[in-house]
Amino acid sequence: MTAKANLVVIGTGGTIAGQGKASVNTSSYLCSVLGIDEILGTIPEAAKLANLRAEQLLQTGSENFNNAHLLAIGRRVAELLARDDVDGVVVTHGTDTIEETAYFLHLTLKSAKPVVVVGSMRPPSAMSSDAALNLYDALAVAAHASSRGLGTLVVANNEIHTARDVVKGNSFKLDAFCSPYGALGVVIEGVPRYYRRPARAHTLDTPWSIDALDTLPKVDIVYAYGALDADTLDAITANARGLIYAGTGNGNVAGHLINPLRVAARRGVHVVRASRTGSGVVLHNGAQPDDEFGWLTVDDQAPQKARLLLTLALTQTSDREALQAAFERY
Ligand code: GLU
Repeated sequence: MTAKANLVVIGTGGTIAGQGKASVNTSSYLCSVLGIDEILGTIPEAAKLANLRAEQLLQTGSENFNNAHLLAIGRRVAELLARDDVDGVVVTHGTDTIEETAYFLHLTLKSAKPVVVVGSMRPPSAMSSDAALNLYDALAVAAHASSRGLGTLVVANNEIHTARDVVKGNSFKLDAFCSPYGALGVVIEGVPRYYRRPARAHTLDTPWSIDALDTLPKVDIVYAYGALDADTLDAITANARGLIYAGTGNGNVAGHLINPLRVAARRGVHVVRASRTGSGVVLHNGAQPDDEFGWLTVDDQAPQKARLLLTLALTQTSDREALQAAFERY
């Protein structure tokens, strides 16, 4: 029999740490009130999966997370992964931006050890809460040797998702998390079962290390809509090094916005066409002549993931071809 894995569970808040007045409160409750020890206390069964150690790093809703929070989480996870007595890390997290923290870790950690980010859609106090099972599943995934080398994973609703692809696609349902090409696998009664692996480079195969990151460049996102005007675009791009333009459909740009975006690119803002649809490829030089206009495209990345990728890429280069290559590789 192999020894049990040593896992560290980092608490950061969210619904998984929430508490409602009554069990019927599945949507109205206080977030980020239970400590990580209290949450783990609800699943004594987890002691059979791994040796657990818990620490509270943050205690706030993930809608509050900015670049500094991502750096703080990344640094702590990296410190823990570097230790010989740690085999994997689980981060409990609000679900609103779970995909962003997970993707940031996926691109910046330098370890093959499993890292799992987990949240819940209902607080532990709610009827039919997913908190206990999601956390139990996350621990099972982090403890299992088959999870090594897959980068950062998000576990929810019995599914194991790669951080690159997963997005929160619903505001209240238990099956809120989806990956456009499907989950990597499932967890059943404490055992992960994988059916595919991430195709794009991550963790050990990226040029970004959390240890070398100090401050991050400002990259913003604008969501396209019919009445979006040049003044708004100019205000958003005034201090940004990059702009993810979440255009309609295939990253389309309204006629009256083409020139303002070209001017922004000439000013040195890295303009990246994305799609507000939530999935699908934005083809480079497809709907717009990107190379002629000095623009980039996201491949299939959701705008919030593209923001992180461009942010990291800009820490090492401002070369447009190199930035575009990052969107094709990660
Ligand atoms: N405030 C929560 C968050 O931290 C909302 C949702 C959740 O955790 O499910 O993201």
